[in-house]
Order: sequence, then C-alpha cells, then structure tokens
Amino acid sequence: MDASSCLDELPITHLKGVGEKVAEKLTNLGISSVADVLFHLPFRYEDRSRLVAIGEMRAGESCLFEGQVELAEVVFRGRRSMLVRVSDGTGFITLRFFHFSNSQKQALKRGQWLRCFGEIKAYNKSQGFDVVHPEYKLIAETQRGEINEGLSAVYPATEGVQQATLRKLIKQAFVLLEQGASVRDCLPVSARAVKNLPELIDSLQQLHYPQKMPTAEVHESPAFQRLIIEELLANHLSMSRLKDGVKKQNAPIFKSSDSLQKQFLGSLGFELTNAQQRVIKEITSDLISAHPMQRLLQGDVGSGKTVVAACAALLATQAGYQVALMAPTELLAEQHVRNFAAWLEPLGIQVDCLVGRQKAAVQKVIVEDIREGRSQVIIGTHALFQEAVVFAKLGLVIIDEQHRFGVHQRLALRDKGALNGMSPHQLVMTATPIPRTLAMLGYADLDLSIINELPPGRTPVTTTVLSIEKRPLIIERIQQGVEDGRQVYWVCTLIEESEVLQCQAAEVAAQLLKELLPHVKVGLLHGRMKAEEKHHVMQQFKEMKLQILVATTVIEVGVDVPNASLMVIENAERLGLAQLHQLRGRVGRGERDSHCVLLYKAPLSKNANERLSIMRATSDGFKIAEKDMELRGPGELLGKRQAGFMRFKVADLVRDAALLDLVARCADDVLQHQLELIEPLIHRWLANSVEYAHV
Ligand code: ADP
Ligand code: MG
Repeated sequence: MDASSCLDELPITHLKGVGEKVAEKLTNLGISSVADVLFHLPFRYEDRSRLVAIGEMRAGESCLFEGQVELAEVVFRGRRSMLVRVSDGTGFITLRFFHFSNSQKQALKRGQWLRCFGEIKAYNKSQGFDVVHPEYKLIAETQRGEINEGLSAVYPATEGVQQATLRKLIKQAFVLLEQGASVRDCLPVSARAVKNLPELIDSLQQLHYPQKMPTAEVHESPAFQRLIIEELLANHLSMSRLKDGVKKQNAPIFKSSDSLQKQFLGSLGFELTNAQQRVIKEITSDLISAHPMQRLLQGDVGSGKTVVAACAALLATQAGYQVALMAPTELLAEQHVRNFAAWLEPLGIQVDCLVGRQKAAVQKVIVEDIREGRSQVIIGTHALFQEAVVFAKLGLVIIDEQHRFGVHQRLALRDKGALNGMSPHQLVMTATPIPRTLAMLGYADLDLSIINELPPGRTPVTTTVLSIEKRPLIIERIQQGVEDGRQVYWVCTLIEESEVLQCQAAEVAAQLLKELLPHVKVGLLHGRMKAEEKHHVMQQFKEMKLQILVATTVIEVGVDVPNASLMVIENAERLGLAQLHQLRGRVGRGERDSHCVLLYKAPLSKNANERLSIMRATSDGFKIAEKDMELRGPGELLGKRQAGFMRFKVADLVRDAALLDLVARCADDVLQHQLELIEPLIHRWLANSVEYAHV
C-alpha cells in the first residue's frame, strides 16, 4: 500500500473481502471507492458497553442483558414460535423466535445462561418484557458480566451486505488512514476559516467510533459541524448545477405583441399593482430569451398571482405554443378554467379543462384537441400528465400552489414537454412563503419573483381565538353578520386522517347550523361530492344564494369569493400554520372588514397555543412561515414529498439553519475559485439520491 494514496481514488475492491459480487451490492449503498465507505455514516448507535438488569429495562430501548433460561416452549398462536423465558433475579423477559432450528431449541435448556442484545418491547403482566429475535450467546455462569464491547454504530445496510461486513470495511479504511493514506478535503478555504473546525479524519473517527453515547447536542461538536457544512454545501452546489443545466437547454422564444396584452389588461376591470407589473416584466424577459424559464412566483394569498399567470399564458399562445396549468385540486382547476376562459376566450384563445373525474368520452375529445393543437390553454390536475396526454406544442408549464407537489414532479413536467431539443418554460406559483435560507437549498434551481403587495382595498383580517365552548357566541355573531349581508365560511378540519370522517363532520356541522339558524341558507362543500355538485354549490355561494358555506379544507387553496368576510375554523389547534394562513386568506378579499374565528378544544398544547397566538398576532405570510419552520420543521414547509428529497445524512435544516449563510458563501467561493471540488463533493454526499442522477 502506497502511503500517499488517496482513498477517494482507491476502488472498494482494494479492501479485503470485497470481490466483484460484494462490490456490486455496495454500489446500492452509493459505495464505490474506499473513501465512500468512510462517508457511509451510522444512523444510530447501540450501547453494548454495559449490562442492563431486567428489572430496570424500559420498553423501546435496545440493551444488553444476561439471564438464565427458566422455560423454553414452542407455541402455535397464529404462527409457530418459540418462547424462551429468561430471568436474572431482578425480573424476567420473554425472548420470542419465529424462526429457529431444533438444535437451537435443544441448547436453550432450563438453567442455561445467555447474554442477549435486542430491542425491548412493551411490558405485559404475564410475560414480562418481550424481545423479538434478540442476538444471543450461550455463556457459562462464570462468564457473567465479562463485557468487552463498547458502542457500536449501526449503518444503513442492503441485501447481502450485513452490519458486520460494513464494520469490517470501515475498520480497514481507518487502518489505511493510519498507514498514511488520505481522503480528499472538500471544504473550500472560506470554510476552513471558521474557528475550530477539526480535521476531516478526526470528524469521521468521532462519527464511526464515538467515545460515549451521543446526546442530543452531539451535532454541536466541531466534528459534526464540519461534516454538516460539507453536506449542505454539496446540496447547494448540486442545486446550482441543476439550474445551470437547465439554463443551457433551448426553449421557444415568445415575442410579445403589446396590443393583445393591452386588450387583455384593459378587460380586467382593475389596475395591476406595481408588484404585479414588475413580476410580469421579469417573467416576460425570461420568455423572450432562448432558454427555459425556471421561475418561482411567490406571493401571499390573494396577491393576484393568477392574472400574472394568465399574462404569461397569453404570450405563449400568441407565439403559437400551448400552455399547461396544473392545480392541486379539481375545485381550484375549475376555478382557474372559469377565470382564464373569461379573460382569454374573448381574445380567441381556446381554454380547456382536464380533470380525473371527467367522463372518459369528454376526456377523449379534450385529449384529441390537445394532441391536434386546438386546445391552447389546458388547465387540470395531475391528470394532465398521464401518458395519453400528448401536447402538440407545449411551450409553458404553470404549476399552481407548488408546495403541494414535490421536486420530482416538477422535474417530470419539464421532461413531458421536451420536444425537438426544446424544453418548455416553467412558472411555479406558491402562496407559501419559503424562508430565505430554506429557499436557497430547496429551490436553488429556480429564479425567484415576489409579489410583495396586495391589491388595493383589502382590509386586514381580525383574528379571534375561542374555545369551542363559546359556540353560542359564534352563532350569534354569524346571525348578526348574515343580517349585515355578510357571507360566512365554516371550515371543518381533519379530525383524523380520513376524508370520510372529515366529510361526515362537515355534514353534521351543516345540519347543526341549519337548526340553530333556521332563516339562513346553508350550503355544504366537501371532497367526496361530485365535481358538478361542488361547482353548483360554489356558484350559489358566489351568487349570494347561500349565506353560509360549510366546507372541509377543500377550500384551502385558491377559492375566491370576495364578499365572504367571516370565517370560522373548527379544531384550529390541529392545523399547521401554513394551512391556517391559507384558509384565512379566503376572507379579507373584499372591501368589508373581515374576521376569522379560530375555534379550539381545550386543553391546548404549548405548541398549539403558540400557533394560534401567532395567527392572532400577524397576517404576514413570511413571519408565519418562519415560525412554522421553527415549530414544525422544513419537511412540512417544502411539502411531504419534498421532505424525502431533502433527506440529509448529518444535516438538519432547522437545527443548522444558522450555518446556511456560511454555506452560501462557501458555495460562491467554490464556484469562483475551486471548481474541482464540486464533483467530489456531490459524489460524496449525493451519489445515492436518484434526483441527482438525472442532472
Ligand atoms: P392568489 O395570488 O392567492 O392566487 P388570486 O390570483 O386568486 O390570488 O387573486 C385574488 C383576487 O384578487 C381575484 O379575485 C383577482 O381577480 C383579484 N385581483 C388580482 N389582482 C388584482 C388587482 N391588481 N386589483 C384588484 N383585484 C385584483
Ligand atoms: Mg391562487
């Protein structure tokens, strides 16, 4: 072994015990070089350094214990299993085996001493604690207490590669390091300037072979910080690489004609806000360049993003291209269809709707129109992206309420429209403000436009937090409101993870309101109604034929009825901030002062109390999002699917948010002076994520 060799370049097959077969299996774990095995980090540690008395065990812990067999029996309860009762004088525990051999059973004689390791399951009176398939070893009574193990790291494994194999490989890699081999240090100079960052090898040593069981604060150690910075940097760089890749592709050029745009804007019946005008300029300049727009349009609920999207759609259709607009719900898709049709059909543009629940025959006609290019603006749910849908000439993809979709889907849409080496432009819209630090990572492949101004005449919403016990008070208020000509939303939220139950709750609430307010017209809207029914109810509400609309959270996104000025949200304590903010955004759209009542059921948890207080204190979407991130973590903010994509090995976006500025600076540094670090960094930290494979 050449002492100067770099483990990043040394193939894993160099290690003992790794032949072609094992090497192939290791690639499933993203391991192909010896250095890769060092960066294959444990996800937890097991403490085998001390014995736990059975009487002191706690369910859920993994522990090492010893005991004497009292009884071993084979039982048939549902399935054949062997139960072995073991005691150490402080208590007893049942070892449970579903697979066992005869000789195994023979060896577990009454009186035999065992040393076991396993995860302790719940306690039960007749059987004591329970442990399924523990590791165990027969020992002589004289060997009791002879422990020579310590903490052991547990690694992500794969079929055919066991923990023991990984541990051996890691050990070998460390031996090579001791003999003078090296691993590449991928941190740029700017990061090294940070105080106290230890050597890479020391950091790795600490992660693989910790001295003591890590506590919650272990990430604060400089060793961890160092690796966290590396990982965040790798993510940052990979996102910017993604962005550059897209920028190199070709896209259609939409030359604008001012006259049609003027006609369109003139027909709106309102003036665009300065922010809307600015954002339209930003979008337009993207659309007339020969590269695909990748733009995130961020604007608080009610800031008027739809009309901006329509402007972009107009440009695309003028240039002879099709536009696809994807909305997260059918209700929202249909609302967009009505708006777009009203705005664009007078200009001779064909607007169509494609949603899952349409009759097959109807869909067939629309799909045909899309293929033939007759359909110019196609609005729908993800039904738009089924295989049968082939666009004649897709030039622009608009995604509304992006937080409902994942990065994956976003990238898939881009591929859908790729034609003759041309990629469609993409406009992604969201009302969920993304804290800057998070946006730097999760949306680094998108340019950002912000509508930071609401249309004039909006009134802030006054928010009240009330216990459900005060329901009579609310009913009185609704009564008064309705007499004043107000319209009211009554929102029933998810009590359990079941849409059926949620709809039932809405039905019950509607019934109750009808009984309590016999002179008021109450409508009901929920996710299990047919699209036509939903449309009909919405239409009646819009036309003021209904005064109260009882709805499930289907109205959360996008629904727009300016005259509605009172909203009551049941079980508000169960909702996250982002969702509450979205819901509340349905009121405060007209000229009247608006109110939102958050009903909760006592007792409130500390966290819930904090959430409701924030809602009462502010209507600033950004403040709410920052707080949301603090309280719930970034996964929820980025959307569930996105959370999976943002899976880190050592970093945690909320916990490590303070490092993100430094990471951004490091990234600039690398991009300007140390391009050679990019490839190894991305390989080291992200080689295993599918998302990056397609870059
Ligand atoms: P969001 O950004 O939440 O999607 P919408 O696009 O649904 O908001 O707009 C909310 C409402 O405001 C709609 O009724 C829309 O027609 C109206 N609107 C949009 N821009 C303006 C404006 N500049 N002046 C007045 N009303 C506007
Ligand atoms: Mg909207």
